[in-house]
Amino acid sequence: MRKKIVAGNWKMNLCFEEAEELVEELIDLLEDVELKSEVIICPPFPYLEMASDYAQEGFFKIGAQNISPFEAGAYTGEVSASMLDSMEVSHCIIGHSERRKYFNEDDKMLTAKVNQALEHNIIPIFCVGESLPERESEKHFEVVRRQVRHGLFHLDTDEFAKVILAYEPVWAIGTGITATPAQAAEMHAYIRSLISERYGEEVSKATMILYGGSCTSKNAAELFAQPGVDGGLVGGASLKAEEFVEICKLA
Ligand code: PEP
Repeated sequence: MRKKIVAGNWKMNLCFEEAEELVEELIDLLEDVELKSEVIICPPFPYLEMASDYAQEGFFKIGAQNISPFEAGAYTGEVSASMLDSMEVSHCIIGHSERRKYFNEDDKMLTAKVNQALEHNIIPIFCVGESLPERESEKHFEVVRRQVRHGLFHLDTDEFAKVILAYEPVWAIGTGITATPAQAAEMHAYIRSLISERYGEEVSKATMILYGGSCTSKNAAELFAQPGVDGGLVGGASLKAEEFVEICKLA
């Protein structure tokens, strides 16, 4: 069986002292439990070095929330994949709906980001998911199909095998409304069928697909128990150490 993953997306929250406190609290709690899951935390860029240092203790891995589509050079404000790699960052969230929406990240840009990440040993956590109007008009499968195909299906099998996907219905992110376990299972199975068509059943079965969207310690157990749900990408609840560790325990 695949080992489940719980990744915490801190988004643009916390000052440095709060971030360090959260990391220390996480370590204190994680020291006392034996988890079956792998834990990844994704702090904002300025805190990556601090978090990376703490990650040496072995309780979690470090992910970034963004990555440049460019290799290096005159791109003011950007952070490259090789910079992240040099700071022991192992994962990066790519294609989050907030970046698609507020920063106009389109399929072409996301493809470039995925390529940069993979070229520099960073594992993409590639997010897909439909908006509420898209679900209400029953376009959710079509939307997710396009996002998965355009963002990832240019990869060869070896490259694709490194990618983690996250199904995050936009209407569930930060809203307190979670996809029902059946909705999550249905979409995860659909994504897996797309992967199977393109890369074959073996790759499809081995691909990690996380669920994201208002995941808490109250709903995580049921969501993570669904076939094809390999853990969670957790936003708001990852800012509270106890709550996040509770979720990790349920995976
Ligand atoms: C996210 O931003 O990836 C997310 C899932 O957020 P939340 O858990 O707060 O809905």
